[in-house]
Amino acid sequence: MIETGKIREHFPILDRKVWGKPMIYLDNTATTQTPREVVDEVCRMYYTEKANVHRGVHCLSQEATASMEAAREAARRFIGAESADEIIFTRGTTEGLNLVAASYGELLNPGDEVVLTVMEHHSNIVPWQLMAARRGVVIKVVPILPDGSLDMDAFRRLLGSGRVRLVSVAHVSNVLGTVNPVAEIAALTHEAGAVLCVDGAQAVAHCAVDVRALGADFYAFSSHKMYGPTGVGILYGRRSLLEAMPPYQGGGEMIGHVSFTEGTTWAALPYKFEAGTPDFVDAAAFVKAVEFIDRTGMENIAAHEHELLEYATARMTTEIPGMRIFGTAPGKSAVISFLIGNAHHYDTGVLLDRQGVEVRTGHHCAQPLMEALGIEGTVRASFAVYNTRAEVDAFIDALQRAAAMLL
Ligand code: PLP
Repeated sequence: MIETGKIREHFPILDRKVWGKPMIYLDNTATTQTPREVVDEVCRMYYTEKANVHRGVHCLSQEATASMEAAREAARRFIGAESADEIIFTRGTTEGLNLVAASYGELLNPGDEVVLTVMEHHSNIVPWQLMAARRGVVIKVVPILPDGSLDMDAFRRLLGSGRVRLVSVAHVSNVLGTVNPVAEIAALTHEAGAVLCVDGAQAVAHCAVDVRALGADFYAFSSHKMYGPTGVGILYGRRSLLEAMPPYQGGGEMIGHVSFTEGTTWAALPYKFEAGTPDFVDAAAFVKAVEFIDRTGMENIAAHEHELLEYATARMTTEIPGMRIFGTAPGKSAVISFLIGNAHHYDTGVLLDRQGVEVRTGHHCAQPLMEALGIEGTVRASFAVYNTRAEVDAFIDALQRAAAMLL
Protein backbone atom coordinates (compact mmCIF):
# COMPACT_ATOMS: atom_id res chain seq x y z
CA MET A 1 0.00 0.00 0.00
CA ILE A 2 1.26 3.44 -0.93
CA GLU A 3 0.91 6.34 1.50
CA THR A 4 0.87 9.11 -1.08
CA GLY A 5 0.84 11.85 1.57
CA LYS A 6 4.20 10.66 2.91
CA ILE A 7 5.61 10.13 -0.58
CA ARG A 8 4.60 13.61 -1.73
CA GLU A 9 6.65 15.12 1.12
CA HIS A 10 9.73 14.04 -0.85
CA PHE A 11 8.67 16.10 -3.89
CA PRO A 12 8.58 19.83 -3.05
CA ILE A 13 7.57 20.75 -6.62
CA LEU A 14 4.18 19.08 -6.13
CA ASP A 15 3.21 21.90 -3.75
CA ARG A 16 3.52 24.59 -6.38
CA LYS A 17 0.69 26.28 -8.22
CA VAL A 18 0.21 26.99 -11.91
CA TRP A 19 -2.08 29.83 -13.01
CA GLY A 20 -2.97 30.26 -9.31
CA LYS A 21 -4.33 26.70 -9.09
CA PRO A 22 -2.80 23.70 -7.29
CA MET A 23 -0.64 21.93 -9.84
CA ILE A 24 -1.71 18.43 -10.87
CA TYR A 25 1.24 16.88 -12.64
CA LEU A 26 0.13 14.22 -15.14
CA ASP A 27 3.04 14.39 -17.58
CA ASN A 28 5.06 11.63 -15.96
CA THR A 29 5.69 9.80 -19.21
CA ALA A 30 7.72 12.78 -20.45
CA THR A 31 9.59 13.11 -17.17
CA THR A 32 8.88 12.23 -13.56
CA GLN A 33 9.48 14.66 -10.72
CA THR A 34 12.53 14.24 -8.52
CA PRO A 35 12.57 13.50 -4.79
CA ARG A 36 14.51 15.71 -2.42
CA GLU A 37 17.14 13.04 -1.68
CA VAL A 38 18.16 12.92 -5.35
CA VAL A 39 18.55 16.71 -5.50
CA ASP A 40 20.44 16.64 -2.17
CA GLU A 41 22.86 14.11 -3.62
CA VAL A 42 23.54 16.37 -6.63
CA CYS A 43 24.35 19.15 -4.15
CA ARG A 44 26.52 16.84 -2.04
CA MET A 45 28.53 15.88 -5.09
CA TYR A 46 29.06 19.52 -6.12
CA TYR A 47 29.81 20.72 -2.57
CA THR A 48 32.08 17.91 -1.44
CA GLU A 49 33.12 15.49 -4.16
CA LYS A 50 33.48 17.18 -7.55
CA ALA A 51 36.61 15.90 -9.27
CA ASN A 52 37.02 14.27 -12.64
CA VAL A 53 36.56 10.52 -12.40
CA HIS A 54 38.89 7.66 -13.37
CA ARG A 55 41.90 9.83 -14.10
CA GLY A 56 43.12 11.04 -10.74
CA VAL A 57 45.31 9.60 -8.06
CA HIS A 58 44.12 12.26 -5.64
CA CYS A 59 41.58 11.58 -2.93
CA LEU A 60 38.74 13.66 -4.36
CA SER A 61 38.95 11.98 -7.76
CA GLN A 62 38.99 8.58 -6.17
CA GLU A 63 35.91 9.39 -4.08
CA ALA A 64 34.06 10.68 -7.14
CA THR A 65 35.09 7.56 -9.06
CA ALA A 66 33.83 5.35 -6.24
CA SER A 67 30.45 7.16 -6.30
CA MET A 68 30.15 6.72 -10.05
CA GLU A 69 31.11 3.04 -9.93
CA ALA A 70 28.62 2.52 -7.07
CA ALA A 71 26.00 3.93 -9.44
CA ARG A 72 27.02 1.43 -12.10
CA GLU A 73 26.60 -1.38 -9.60
CA ALA A 74 23.19 0.01 -8.50
CA ALA A 75 22.08 0.07 -12.14
CA ARG A 76 23.36 -3.48 -12.67
CA ARG A 77 21.38 -4.74 -9.72
CA PHE A 78 18.28 -2.69 -10.66
CA ILE A 79 17.95 -4.43 -14.04
CA GLY A 80 19.46 -7.80 -13.11
CA ALA A 81 22.50 -7.64 -15.39
CA GLU A 82 25.22 -10.20 -14.82
CA SER A 83 28.15 -7.79 -14.67
CA ALA A 84 28.72 -4.07 -14.11
CA ASP A 85 30.91 -4.20 -17.24
CA GLU A 86 27.68 -4.51 -19.21
CA ILE A 87 26.36 -1.18 -17.86
CA ILE A 88 27.23 1.84 -20.01
CA PHE A 89 26.42 5.35 -18.87
CA THR A 90 24.82 7.48 -21.56
CA ARG A 91 22.90 10.78 -21.74
CA GLY A 92 19.64 8.86 -21.84
CA THR A 93 17.59 6.35 -23.79
CA THR A 94 18.11 8.25 -27.03
CA GLU A 95 21.87 8.07 -26.80
CA GLY A 96 21.75 4.39 -25.79
CA LEU A 97 19.70 3.51 -28.87
CA ASN A 98 21.92 5.64 -31.11
CA LEU A 99 24.93 3.81 -29.71
CA VAL A 100 23.50 0.40 -30.53
CA ALA A 101 22.32 1.46 -34.00
CA ALA A 102 25.63 3.09 -34.90
CA SER A 103 27.95 0.51 -33.40
CA TYR A 104 26.07 -2.77 -33.87
CA GLY A 105 25.03 -1.40 -37.26
CA GLU A 106 28.68 -1.59 -38.34
CA LEU A 107 28.36 -5.38 -38.10
CA LEU A 108 25.38 -5.49 -40.48
CA ASN A 109 25.55 -5.94 -44.23
CA PRO A 110 23.49 -4.72 -47.19
CA GLY A 111 20.21 -6.63 -47.35
CA ASP A 112 20.19 -7.46 -43.63
CA GLU A 113 16.88 -6.62 -41.95
CA VAL A 114 16.08 -4.73 -38.75
CA VAL A 115 12.55 -5.13 -37.36
CA LEU A 116 10.89 -2.24 -35.49
CA THR A 117 7.26 -1.70 -34.51
CA VAL A 118 4.84 1.02 -35.54
CA MET A 119 4.46 2.13 -31.91
CA GLU A 120 8.12 3.15 -31.48
CA HIS A 121 9.28 6.52 -30.19
CA HIS A 122 11.31 8.44 -32.80
CA SER A 123 14.43 7.64 -30.79
CA ASN A 124 13.91 3.98 -31.63
CA ILE A 125 13.27 4.72 -35.31
CA VAL A 126 15.53 7.48 -36.58
CA PRO A 127 18.87 6.01 -35.36
CA TRP A 128 18.01 2.83 -37.29
CA GLN A 129 17.05 4.83 -40.38
CA LEU A 130 20.38 6.69 -40.26
CA MET A 131 22.24 3.40 -39.92
CA ALA A 132 20.12 1.68 -42.60
CA ALA A 133 20.94 4.43 -45.11
CA ARG A 134 24.67 4.00 -44.41
CA ARG A 135 24.75 0.21 -44.43
CA GLY A 136 22.07 -0.70 -47.00
CA VAL A 137 20.03 -2.36 -44.26
CA VAL A 138 16.27 -2.83 -44.72
CA ILE A 139 13.81 -1.78 -41.98
CA LYS A 140 10.62 -3.80 -41.48
CA VAL A 141 7.76 -2.63 -39.26
CA VAL A 142 5.39 -4.69 -37.10
CA PRO A 143 1.82 -3.27 -37.06
CA ILE A 144 -0.55 -3.13 -34.08
CA LEU A 145 -4.00 -4.59 -33.46
CA PRO A 146 -7.01 -2.32 -32.78
CA ASP A 147 -6.49 -2.40 -28.98
CA GLY A 148 -2.89 -1.21 -29.37
CA SER A 149 -1.19 -4.54 -28.74
CA LEU A 150 1.50 -5.78 -31.09
CA ASP A 151 0.43 -7.96 -34.00
CA MET A 152 2.51 -10.99 -33.02
CA ASP A 153 1.41 -13.00 -36.08
CA ALA A 154 2.77 -10.27 -38.33
CA PHE A 155 5.96 -10.26 -36.24
CA ARG A 156 6.39 -14.01 -36.73
CA ARG A 157 5.86 -13.59 -40.48
CA LEU A 158 8.54 -10.87 -40.68
CA LEU A 159 11.00 -13.07 -38.80
CA GLY A 160 10.39 -15.77 -41.39
CA SER A 161 12.41 -13.92 -44.06
CA GLY A 162 15.62 -15.43 -42.68
CA ARG A 163 17.38 -12.06 -43.09
CA VAL A 164 16.46 -10.41 -39.78
CA ARG A 165 19.57 -9.59 -37.76
CA LEU A 166 18.13 -7.31 -35.10
CA VAL A 167 14.75 -6.47 -33.53
CA SER A 168 14.26 -3.26 -31.56
CA VAL A 169 11.06 -2.74 -29.62
CA ALA A 170 9.66 -0.59 -26.83
CA HIS A 171 9.06 -2.46 -23.58
CA VAL A 172 6.14 -0.08 -22.91
CA SER A 173 4.58 2.31 -25.44
CA ASN A 174 4.74 5.96 -24.40
CA VAL A 175 1.43 6.64 -26.18
CA LEU A 176 -0.70 3.51 -25.89
CA GLY A 177 0.64 2.22 -22.58
CA THR A 178 0.91 -1.22 -24.20
CA VAL A 179 3.32 -3.51 -22.36
CA ASN A 180 4.94 -5.60 -25.07
CA PRO A 181 5.59 -9.30 -24.39
CA VAL A 182 9.36 -8.83 -24.37
CA ALA A 183 10.25 -12.35 -23.17
CA GLU A 184 8.20 -13.90 -25.98
CA ILE A 185 9.64 -11.43 -28.50
CA ALA A 186 13.14 -12.30 -27.27
CA ALA A 187 12.55 -16.03 -27.66
CA LEU A 188 11.24 -15.61 -31.22
CA THR A 189 14.03 -13.18 -32.10
CA HIS A 190 16.74 -15.53 -30.87
CA GLU A 191 15.12 -18.49 -32.62
CA ALA A 192 15.43 -16.47 -35.84
CA GLY A 193 19.13 -15.93 -35.12
CA ALA A 194 18.76 -12.19 -34.40
CA VAL A 195 19.44 -10.02 -31.35
CA LEU A 196 16.91 -8.01 -29.36
CA CYS A 197 17.28 -4.35 -28.37
CA VAL A 198 14.68 -3.01 -25.94
CA ASP A 199 13.70 0.63 -25.39
CA GLY A 200 12.97 0.54 -21.68
CA ALA A 201 12.29 4.27 -21.23
CA GLN A 202 8.68 3.76 -20.15
CA ALA A 203 9.14 0.53 -18.23
CA VAL A 204 11.81 1.00 -15.59
CA ALA A 205 9.76 3.27 -13.30
CA HIS A 206 6.63 1.16 -13.55
CA CYS A 207 7.51 -2.54 -13.48
CA ALA A 208 10.41 -4.69 -12.30
CA VAL A 209 12.92 -5.29 -15.07
CA ASP A 210 15.28 -8.26 -15.24
CA VAL A 211 17.18 -8.14 -18.51
CA ARG A 212 18.30 -11.75 -18.24
CA ALA A 213 14.81 -13.08 -17.50
CA LEU A 214 13.47 -10.98 -20.38
CA GLY A 215 16.18 -12.18 -22.73
CA ALA A 216 17.07 -8.64 -23.84
CA ASP A 217 20.47 -8.30 -25.53
CA PHE A 218 20.40 -4.51 -25.20
CA TYR A 219 18.20 -2.47 -22.87
CA ALA A 220 18.21 1.35 -22.83
CA PHE A 221 16.59 3.72 -20.32
CA SER A 222 16.73 7.26 -18.87
CA SER A 223 17.19 8.30 -15.27
CA HIS A 224 14.88 11.33 -15.52
CA LYS A 225 11.85 9.14 -16.23
CA MET A 226 12.42 7.14 -13.04
CA TYR A 227 12.64 9.92 -10.41
CA GLY A 228 16.33 10.48 -11.12
CA PRO A 229 18.31 13.46 -12.39
CA THR A 230 18.33 14.58 -16.02
CA GLY A 231 21.31 14.06 -18.30
CA VAL A 232 22.09 10.46 -17.48
CA GLY A 233 20.87 7.14 -18.81
CA ILE A 234 21.93 3.54 -18.99
CA LEU A 235 22.52 1.14 -21.80
CA TYR A 236 22.78 -2.51 -20.89
CA GLY A 237 24.45 -4.73 -23.46
CA ARG A 238 25.28 -8.42 -23.33
CA ARG A 239 29.03 -8.72 -22.86
CA SER A 240 29.78 -10.88 -25.90
CA LEU A 241 27.94 -8.40 -28.16
CA LEU A 242 29.57 -5.31 -26.66
CA GLU A 243 32.98 -6.91 -27.01
CA ALA A 244 32.43 -7.54 -30.72
CA MET A 245 31.16 -3.99 -31.39
CA PRO A 246 33.36 -1.06 -32.44
CA PRO A 247 33.47 2.09 -30.25
CA TYR A 248 30.66 4.60 -30.69
CA GLN A 249 32.62 7.79 -29.96
CA GLY A 250 36.33 8.42 -29.64
CA GLY A 251 38.11 10.45 -26.99
CA GLY A 252 39.54 10.21 -23.54
CA GLU A 253 38.78 7.24 -21.30
CA MET A 254 37.75 4.86 -24.09
CA ILE A 255 41.28 4.01 -25.23
CA GLY A 256 43.89 1.43 -24.29
CA HIS A 257 46.80 3.18 -25.98
CA VAL A 258 46.87 6.01 -28.54
CA SER A 259 49.64 6.25 -31.09
CA PHE A 260 50.05 7.99 -34.46
CA THR A 261 52.45 5.31 -35.57
CA GLU A 262 51.12 2.08 -34.08
CA GLY A 263 47.40 2.84 -34.17
CA THR A 264 45.01 3.07 -31.23
CA THR A 265 43.55 0.34 -29.05
CA TRP A 266 40.37 0.36 -26.98
CA ALA A 267 39.75 0.21 -23.25
CA ALA A 268 38.00 -2.77 -21.72
CA LEU A 269 34.23 -2.73 -21.13
CA PRO A 270 32.38 -0.63 -20.20
CA TYR A 271 34.85 2.23 -20.77
CA LYS A 272 35.22 1.46 -24.48
CA PHE A 273 31.78 3.05 -24.89
CA GLU A 274 32.23 5.97 -22.47
CA ALA A 275 34.34 8.56 -24.29
CA GLY A 276 34.98 11.81 -22.43
CA THR A 277 34.00 12.96 -18.97
CA PRO A 278 30.76 11.23 -18.00
CA ASP A 279 27.99 12.96 -16.07
CA PHE A 280 29.34 11.55 -12.84
CA VAL A 281 27.42 13.93 -10.58
CA ASP A 282 24.06 12.85 -11.95
CA ALA A 283 25.16 9.22 -12.10
CA ALA A 284 25.83 9.37 -8.36
CA ALA A 285 22.43 10.97 -7.74
CA PHE A 286 20.76 8.29 -9.86
CA VAL A 287 21.55 5.86 -7.03
CA LYS A 288 19.19 7.81 -4.76
CA ALA A 289 16.40 7.38 -7.33
CA VAL A 290 16.99 3.63 -7.36
CA GLU A 291 16.90 3.64 -3.56
CA PHE A 292 13.65 5.63 -3.61
CA ILE A 293 12.05 3.03 -5.91
CA ASP A 294 13.42 0.13 -3.85
CA ARG A 295 12.17 1.64 -0.59
CA THR A 296 8.73 2.30 -2.03
CA GLY A 297 8.60 -1.12 -3.67
CA MET A 298 8.07 -1.61 -7.40
CA GLU A 299 5.04 -3.82 -6.77
CA ASN A 300 3.46 -1.10 -4.64
CA ILE A 301 4.19 1.52 -7.30
CA ALA A 302 2.70 -0.64 -10.04
CA ALA A 303 -0.41 -1.45 -8.00
CA HIS A 304 -0.98 2.20 -7.09
CA GLU A 305 -0.59 3.41 -10.68
CA HIS A 306 -2.84 0.63 -11.94
CA GLU A 307 -5.58 1.67 -9.52
CA LEU A 308 -5.34 5.29 -10.71
CA LEU A 309 -5.39 4.12 -14.33
CA GLU A 310 -8.56 2.05 -13.84
CA TYR A 311 -10.31 4.78 -11.86
CA ALA A 312 -9.43 7.53 -14.34
CA THR A 313 -10.29 5.40 -17.38
CA ALA A 314 -13.68 4.41 -15.97
CA ARG A 315 -14.59 8.02 -15.15
CA MET A 316 -13.31 9.40 -18.44
CA THR A 317 -15.25 6.89 -20.56
CA THR A 318 -18.51 7.26 -18.65
CA GLU A 319 -18.51 10.95 -17.71
CA ILE A 320 -16.76 12.86 -20.51
CA PRO A 321 -18.78 13.32 -23.69
CA GLY A 322 -17.01 12.37 -26.92
CA MET A 323 -14.13 10.64 -25.08
CA ARG A 324 -11.87 8.60 -27.42
CA ILE A 325 -9.09 6.64 -25.72
CA PHE A 326 -6.22 5.24 -27.81
CA GLY A 327 -4.69 2.08 -26.37
CA THR A 328 -6.76 -0.43 -24.42
CA ALA A 329 -4.49 -3.48 -24.42
CA PRO A 330 -4.89 -5.74 -21.37
CA GLY A 331 -2.35 -5.01 -18.62
CA LYS A 332 -1.46 -1.61 -20.09
CA SER A 333 0.70 0.85 -18.21
CA ALA A 334 -0.70 3.99 -16.54
CA VAL A 335 -0.77 6.16 -19.67
CA ILE A 336 -4.01 7.48 -21.16
CA SER A 337 -3.91 9.02 -24.63
CA PHE A 338 -7.19 10.56 -25.65
CA LEU A 339 -9.16 13.07 -27.68
CA ILE A 340 -12.44 14.76 -26.85
CA GLY A 341 -14.56 14.33 -29.96
CA ASN A 342 -12.80 16.10 -32.80
CA ALA A 343 -11.41 18.86 -30.58
CA HIS A 344 -7.77 19.66 -31.27
CA HIS A 345 -5.41 18.17 -28.69
CA TYR A 346 -3.67 21.54 -28.16
CA ASP A 347 -6.97 23.25 -27.29
CA THR A 348 -7.76 20.54 -24.73
CA GLY A 349 -4.22 20.76 -23.32
CA VAL A 350 -4.39 24.55 -22.93
CA LEU A 351 -7.80 24.38 -21.24
CA LEU A 352 -6.51 21.74 -18.81
CA ASP A 353 -3.32 23.69 -18.11
CA ARG A 354 -5.35 26.81 -17.20
CA GLN A 355 -7.02 24.65 -14.55
CA GLY A 356 -3.68 23.49 -13.16
CA VAL A 357 -3.60 20.11 -14.91
CA GLU A 358 -0.29 19.47 -16.68
CA VAL A 359 -0.73 16.96 -19.50
CA ARG A 360 1.21 16.44 -22.72
CA THR A 361 -0.21 17.13 -26.16
CA GLY A 362 1.05 16.36 -29.66
CA HIS A 363 2.42 13.38 -31.53
CA HIS A 364 4.56 12.29 -28.55
CA CYS A 365 7.53 11.62 -30.87
CA ALA A 366 5.55 8.79 -32.43
CA GLN A 367 4.44 10.13 -35.81
CA PRO A 368 4.29 6.70 -37.52
CA LEU A 369 1.90 5.57 -34.77
CA MET A 370 -0.23 8.71 -35.24
CA GLU A 371 -0.36 7.95 -38.95
CA ALA A 372 -1.45 4.36 -38.23
CA LEU A 373 -4.16 5.67 -35.90
CA GLY A 374 -5.26 8.25 -38.48
CA ILE A 375 -4.80 11.20 -36.14
CA GLU A 376 -2.37 14.10 -35.76
CA GLY A 377 -1.89 13.85 -32.04
CA THR A 378 -3.49 13.18 -28.68
CA VAL A 379 -3.71 14.54 -25.18
CA ARG A 380 -1.81 12.27 -22.81
CA ALA A 381 -2.25 11.92 -19.05
CA SER A 382 0.19 9.63 -17.27
CA PHE A 383 0.54 8.69 -13.63
CA ALA A 384 3.37 8.20 -11.17
CA VAL A 385 3.62 7.00 -7.60
CA TYR A 386 2.84 10.43 -6.08
CA ASN A 387 -0.45 11.00 -7.93
CA THR A 388 -3.68 10.64 -5.95
CA ARG A 389 -7.34 9.79 -6.51
CA ALA A 390 -8.17 13.37 -5.51
CA GLU A 391 -5.98 14.54 -8.39
CA VAL A 392 -7.84 12.23 -10.76
CA ASP A 393 -11.10 13.78 -9.51
CA ALA A 394 -9.76 17.27 -10.21
CA PHE A 395 -8.58 16.10 -13.64
CA ILE A 396 -12.07 14.78 -14.44
CA ASP A 397 -13.65 18.07 -13.30
CA ALA A 398 -11.21 19.97 -15.52
CA LEU A 399 -11.98 17.65 -18.45
CA GLN A 400 -15.70 18.21 -17.98
CA ARG A 401 -15.23 21.98 -18.14
CA ALA A 402 -12.95 21.63 -21.18
CA ALA A 403 -15.45 19.35 -22.95
CA ALA A 404 -18.27 21.83 -22.30
CA MET A 405 -16.25 24.51 -24.09
CA LEU A 406 -14.92 22.34 -26.92
CA LEU A 407 -17.91 20.29 -28.06
N1 PLP B 1 11.60 5.90 -25.81
C1 PLP B 1 10.41 6.14 -25.28
C2 PLP B 1 9.37 5.06 -25.31
C3 PLP B 1 10.15 7.36 -24.67
O1 PLP B 1 8.95 7.59 -24.13
C4 PLP B 1 11.15 8.34 -24.66
C5 PLP B 1 10.89 9.67 -24.08
O2 PLP B 1 9.78 10.11 -23.94
C6 PLP B 1 12.39 8.05 -25.22
C7 PLP B 1 12.59 6.81 -25.79
C8 PLP B 1 13.51 9.03 -25.24
O3 PLP B 1 13.97 9.26 -23.95
P1 PLP B 1 15.07 10.39 -23.68
O4 PLP B 1 14.51 11.66 -24.27
O5 PLP B 1 15.18 10.44 -22.19
O6 PLP B 1 16.32 9.97 -24.34
